[in-house]
Amino acid sequence: MKKAQLSFTDDGTPCSTEFGDSYFSKGEGVAETEFVFLQQNQLEQRFAQLAPQQNFTIAETGFGTGLSFMLAWQLFLQSASKHSRLTFISCEKYPIDKHQLAQIHQQWPQLAALSEQLLAQYPPSLEGFHLLEFGQVRLLLMYGDAQQVYSELSASVDAWFLDGFSPALNADMWQPALFQQINRLSKKGTTAATFTAARIVKDGLMGAGFKLTRSQGYGRKRHKLRGDFIGICGATTQQGWPSSELPIHTRINSGQQCVAVIGAGIAGICTAVELVKRGCQVTLFEKQSQAATGGSGNLQGAVYAKLSAKLNDASQFYSQALIIAQRALASLPETVPHQVSGLVQLAHNDAELKKLNAFLSGDIPSELAEVKTAAELSELTGVAIENPGLWFANGGWLSPSALIQHYIVEHSIELKTNTEIIQLAQQNKQWTLTSADKTEYRFDQVVIATAVDALKFKQSAHLPINKIAGQVSYLKTTEQTKQLRAVICSDRYIMPNHNEQVILGSTFRLKSDDISVTEQDHQQNLSALDARLPALNLAEQQPTGGRAGVRCTSPDYLPLVGSLCDAELFEQQFQTSVQRKLTHRQAPMPQLDGLWLNIAHGSKGLCSAPYCGKILAALMTGEPVPLQASLINKLSPNRFQVRNMMRAQRQATK
Ligand code: SAM
Repeated sequence: MKKAQLSFTDDGTPCSTEFGDSYFSKGEGVAETEFVFLQQNQLEQRFAQLAPQQNFTIAETGFGTGLSFMLAWQLFLQSASKHSRLTFISCEKYPIDKHQLAQIHQQWPQLAALSEQLLAQYPPSLEGFHLLEFGQVRLLLMYGDAQQVYSELSASVDAWFLDGFSPALNADMWQPALFQQINRLSKKGTTAATFTAARIVKDGLMGAGFKLTRSQGYGRKRHKLRGDFIGICGATTQQGWPSSELPIHTRINSGQQCVAVIGAGIAGICTAVELVKRGCQVTLFEKQSQAATGGSGNLQGAVYAKLSAKLNDASQFYSQALIIAQRALASLPETVPHQVSGLVQLAHNDAELKKLNAFLSGDIPSELAEVKTAAELSELTGVAIENPGLWFANGGWLSPSALIQHYIVEHSIELKTNTEIIQLAQQNKQWTLTSADKTEYRFDQVVIATAVDALKFKQSAHLPINKIAGQVSYLKTTEQTKQLRAVICSDRYIMPNHNEQVILGSTFRLKSDDISVTEQDHQQNLSALDARLPALNLAEQQPTGGRAGVRCTSPDYLPLVGSLCDAELFEQQFQTSVQRKLTHRQAPMPQLDGLWLNIAHGSKGLCSAPYCGKILAALMTGEPVPLQASLINKLSPNRFQVRNMMRAQRQATK
C-alpha cells in the first residue's frame, strides 16, 4: 500500500502532498472535529441514551490521523453507560506511517492515553479490514479505497463522519458509488455530518436518502451539512452483496440471549468469550471431563498461518486473522505459558524459495512478515540455519490448553463437562439440546464448535469435512536445542525450549482419527526436522513422549463459520427457484435461525479461531462484521452445497 506523503505547516498541522489539502483546519483540529462531526451528529446525547449492551456505530470516510476517532472515543467514555458499546468504522487509502502518527498526536496531550492505546494496535499497511479493540470501544479500520471497502462492509450505521479532503481536491472519492454505499448502510435514525456543502456532496447525500440542513461552517469554511436519513435503505443500490454468491445471514436480537456453545476447544472458547463480552448468557458444553482435550490440547502451539505473497482470499483472511492472533498473544498474562519469540517459515526447497522471493515484491507488509537470509535467521533464532525464510517478528507460541482454561476463568464461562450433546431440535424459535443421558437444555441460539463431531448432528451431517490425525513428539532439552529462541516451521515445526522440554511435530494421518502415539511417527518428526536443522542433532534424540490429536479440515482449507441452512429444504427450493428463474433474493436460503457453526480450523486454529469468534459473534448479534462480505461468503458453512448445486445445474443445462 502507498503510505501518506505529508508536509507540515509551521504549527504542526499535517497536509497531504498527494491531495494538496490539510487534514484539518490549521491548528484547530480538535475544535473543528467537535463542531462538525460530534455536535452535528448529537453524539453526546445519543451516547448517553444507549442501553446496556447496545452498540452504536459511527462510520467515517478518511481515517487520517485518527483524531476524529479519538475524540468520538473520548466522548463515548465520558457520556455512555459502562456496558454499551461503540464501533467506529473508518477507511484509509493512504495510511500515515506509525512514527509520523505518534509525532502528530503529540500536539494533543489531552488525548495521550488514547493515542498510546491506538498506536499500540495500529495495523501494518496491509490492504483489507483491521479490527482494533479497546474494551467497550472498537475500531474497524478498512485499508483501501473508500468505495471499494464500504461495498464490502456488512453493518448498520448510526452516524456518518463524511470527512475526506475537499471535493475540489478529491473528486474521486465523492462519487455516486460511495453515496450508494452510504444509502445501503443507513437506516431510519441515521445521521450524517460533513464539513462542506459542495454541490457534489449535497446531491450525493440527498440521492442517498438524507434530508439536509445547512449551517455556518467552521472557521473560514462557509457552510457545513447535517443529514437525517429519511429514505429507503438500499434504494439506490442493487440489493444484496455485490461481490458475493450468498446472502449473508445476520441476526438482530432483542433482549439477552441464552447461547449454547458445543465443544470446549479453541474455536468454542473464542466464540464463547466474544458472546459473553456482548452480554449473552453462554453455556459451554464439553463431552470430555475437561476443556481442551481434542485438537486444542497440545502443550505448545504456534500462532502461525502460511500466507501467499499476493493476496488471494485465503491469505487475505489469514493475514487479517494473524494480526489479531499475534496481538492477543502479546497481551497474554504470565499464567498462560507463551512467548512472542518470533517465528520463521523456512524455504527448504526450490518451490518454497520461489514463493519466498515473491514476498520481496508482494502485498504482505514487512511489519507482518519479512524475507531473511539464512545468516540473518541464524542470528534471530539462535541456531545455525541453512535456508532463507520468512520471518514473523510478532509470531510465537502459546499453550492452547492453558489459554482455554484462562478464558473460562477470566470470563466466568459456565462449562458443562462430561455432557455430550447428541441431538438438536428447533421449536418455537428456541433450540432444545439433548445430551447422551437424555437431559434437555433450552437456548435461543446454538453454536456447533465440535470439529469433526459436527457430522453427528442431523443439521450438519452433510458437511464435507475431513479428519486428519497428527502426532507431536517431546524431547528432553539438549545443549543444542537450548539455544533455539524462535519457532521454526518448514514441513514440520520445532518450538523453543519450555520447561526443559522441546516439542516438535507434526505428522499427518489423512482421513484418520487414530490418536495412538507411535514410534514410527516420532521417527518421521525427528528425521524430517533433522534434515532441515542438522545443527540441532535431532537424529540422535530419543523422544520422552508425545501426543496425537485430530484436526478437522474442509476441502478448501478455510474454516466453516456462519449460519447453517436447512440442507434438504434448500436443495428442494434450489430446484424450484432454478425452474422459475428466481434469484437468491426472491428465494432466500432457508436458514436454520439461531444455529451457527465454527469448525474446520485445521492446524491453524490458534491463528484463525480468535478472529472467527469475533466474526461469528458479530453475525449472531447484528453488530458490524469485521470481515469483508466476499470473505464472509468464502467461510459460509453452506458454500459447498451451493457450489455443488450450481455445478450440477450448469451440467444439466449444457
Ligand atoms: N478524519 C481524519 C482525522 O481525524 O485525521 C482526517 C481525514 S483527512 C481530511 C482525509 C483522509 O481521507 C486522508 O487521510 C486521505 O488519505 C483519505 N482519503 C482520501 N481519499 C480517499 C479514498 N478514496 N479512500 C479512502 N481514503 C481516502
